[in-house]
Amino acid sequence: MRRIANAGHEIASHGYGHQLVYKQTPEVFRQDVYRSKCMLEDLIGKPVIGYRAPSWSITEDSFWALGILNELGFRYDSSIFPFKNFLYGVKGAPRFPFRASQYCKDAGDLLEIPPSTVKMPLLNIPFSGGFYFRALPYPFINAFAKQVNREKHPTVFYLHPREIDPKQPRLNLSKRDALIHYYGIRGCKSKMTKVIRKFNCGAIRDVLL
Ligand SMILES: [Zn+2]
Repeated sequence: MRRIANAGHEIASHGYGHQLVYKQTPEVFRQDVYRSKCMLEDLIGKPVIGYRAPSWSITEDSFWALGILNELGFRYDSSIFPFKNFLYGVKGAPRFPFRASQYCKDAGDLLEIPPSTVKMPLLNIPFSGGFYFRALPYPFINAFAKQVNREKHPTVFYLHPREIDPKQPRLNLSKRDALIHYYGIRGCKSKMTKVIRKFNCGAIRDVLL
């Protein structure tokens, strides 16, 4: 963590226990996030101002979490996916940064920064991280990121470190979960490297705040 922070990158919080927010009580959520924020700040000696929920789990059932993030001193959240599936997403949520107070009256000035999607006639298509990034060939990712840039917005890319590690130990998962977790891991690092080389990249702290 210290090496990453000292290299000039932003360190934000993904929570401590990586549990779905909508399955937690507000008090359990507060403790989990506070614990990770304090731990990271002690390690890097800088304020942690950003949060992203495990599996984008701030949804209609857990908008209350935005108020807690504001109370804990976060300046932005990046957990509301404007694309709905079985696990996460908020239908009709904005595709570009907006005030989280739109969904929670206690959110103060907290900024909500959605992961990128491209707008298609019937739905928004995710492409810029996780399973979508691993599954799509690079030319699609390149074209979609440029489309977002043409709309005058930066593309929000995201990956877990494990998504570029083909040698990680495999969990015993259902067919569906194994596909979501492991599909395309082998080619992911080279795709990520291409993105970093081809696009002008920066941290959310520096580009969007
Ligand atoms: Zn995660």
